[in-house]
Amino acid sequence: MPADEFTIIDKYFKTASNRDDIALGVGDDAALLALPAGKQLVMTMDTLVSGVHFPRQTSAADIAYKSIAVNLSDLAAMGASPAWLMLSLSLPDADEDWLQRFSESFLQTCERYNIDLIGGDTTRGGLSVTVQASGFVDEGKVMRRDAASPGDRILVTGTLGDAALALHDMQSDVDTDRYCIDRLNRPTPRLGFAENVAEYCDCAIDISDGLIADLGHIVDASECGAELDLQAVPLSEPVAERISKSSDPKLVDRVCTGGDDYELCIVVSPDKHVQVKELAVSHDLQLTDIGVVTEGKGVVCYRDDEEIQFEHTGYKHYG
Ligand code: ADP
Ligand code: MG
Repeated sequence: MPADEFTIIDKYFKTASNRDDIALGVGDDAALLALPAGKQLVMTMDTLVSGVHFPRQTSAADIAYKSIAVNLSDLAAMGASPAWLMLSLSLPDADEDWLQRFSESFLQTCERYNIDLIGGDTTRGGLSVTVQASGFVDEGKVMRRDAASPGDRILVTGTLGDAALALHDMQSDVDTDRYCIDRLNRPTPRLGFAENVAEYCDCAIDISDGLIADLGHIVDASECGAELDLQAVPLSEPVAERISKSSDPKLVDRVCTGGDDYELCIVVSPDKHVQVKELAVSHDLQLTDIGVVTEGKGVVCYRDDEEIQFEHTGYKHYG
């Protein structure tokens, strides 16, 4: 007999909680939690829909990992330390093999980041995974989108465009680099660095829809502009090699406008620049200067001092 939702919850998602801030986790009508003194609660939620946020052939283990990682990336962008997760799972059928692989990866990922699953919902429907994540930040230490000022430097972690290249290759049935597929399926939330950098920096965003679109959110919220040096945008070896060999001029655009990087874009005042760069080195994290905040409006991109316009600046669901 196929499992009903109560059996599924009990068998795959009801785990003993490891954290002492959880009075009640999975199993009651709602979770009961203790917020540490002096901290603010930071909450975020992201849905991954099959065929929209991940290719249909993505493994259960990768979907589980990514559903957590994209939320942790949002918490990182706020400078928060993650604590709790809720999971809303919509499945076409109770495929126990899929559920086994999904929950194993989900719970492993929770353990890796010292976060606990505290509740959720399980329904029948098209394959879709929603995770809600909560974390803490020291009062007043949060990084926000509306805190950029003219003169600030714009920096980005890691490399951009790896996931967009993998997705583009998959959609065009072209062989793609294993590294880029891993970057698409297994993005790394920049948590450790982000929690520490919040000490020096009060403005950040994670790059989920594309660098130019996401930096656009910062300058709009902060009522200023940005100048971006496209040649400074950090590329991985596979992406740099593909661009140098390709005759497709759109490939370069995809790096700056493609989604799914889950790197952090941070805005730093010049007097904190050295500390922030040193912090990145201590986290063994690539951190690259890519532009400056201006008095203007919108994101203006330059290559060889020439202004470059993009047709599409990032992923939009209804665009
Ligand atoms: P209710 O009917 O009271 O809303 P549910 O039957 O939906 O409760 O859920 C029972 C318990 O199981 C709740 O604690 C809920 O948070 C938890 N839960 C349901 N689905 C999941 C899931 N996919 N992952 C984790 N916890 C879940
Ligand atoms: Mg109830």
